[in-house]
Amino acid sequence: MGPVGVLALQGDFREHQQSLERAGAASRQVRKPADLDGISALVIPGGESTTIGRLATLYGLIDPLREVIDGGLPTFGTCAGLIFLAVGTVRDGPPQLGCLDVIVERNAFGRQNDSFEAPLEVEGLEAPFLGVFIRAPQVAKVGPHVEVLATYDGRVVMVRQGNILASAFHPELTDDVRIHDMLLSMLKGD
Ligand code: GLN
Repeated sequence: MGPVGVLALQGDFREHQQSLERAGAASRQVRKPADLDGISALVIPGGESTTIGRLATLYGLIDPLREVIDGGLPTFGTCAGLIFLAVGTVRDGPPQLGCLDVIVERNAFGRQNDSFEAPLEVEGLEAPFLGVFIRAPQVAKVGPHVEVLATYDGRVVMVRQGNILASAFHPELTDDVRIHDMLLSMLKGD
């Protein structure tokens, strides 16, 4: 089985690679279209969605990424990765892939609450997961084929649509690999 590709244009891709390693999966940094060849899953990290979108456009990655994700590649986006995967944003519009049928609101938790941690009930996990939120988006609107996996304070913060998993928080900034395990179980067809 091929390595998990981790989009490495900007953001906390190294932390995702460490989580994947802890979860027992090899990974490869993706910076150009050829890096997508042979990967078994894809992670799009947190960072700044405007920068990730601009660099992906510059490196000719938008269409190749769309193609592999729409083709069913198990994919996990965190925070800016969630924004990049979505079809739209509430206000400003960074470049987006449009693979995940949700509308996101960037920086949805306000200035006072810029960064915070909260235990979350996540669908499919038995014990709560510590959500680390950093200038996090919320999912403002979900399409008919999108399953809500977690909410915080009544707001949607984790979703799944078929092969795509996305969270507004950062599992890669914790030692807990249960959400990376979810991605890996998708590629085994569990
Ligand atoms: N606020 C960032 C954005 O809009 C996302 C922050 C993050 O990825 N931690 O892209």
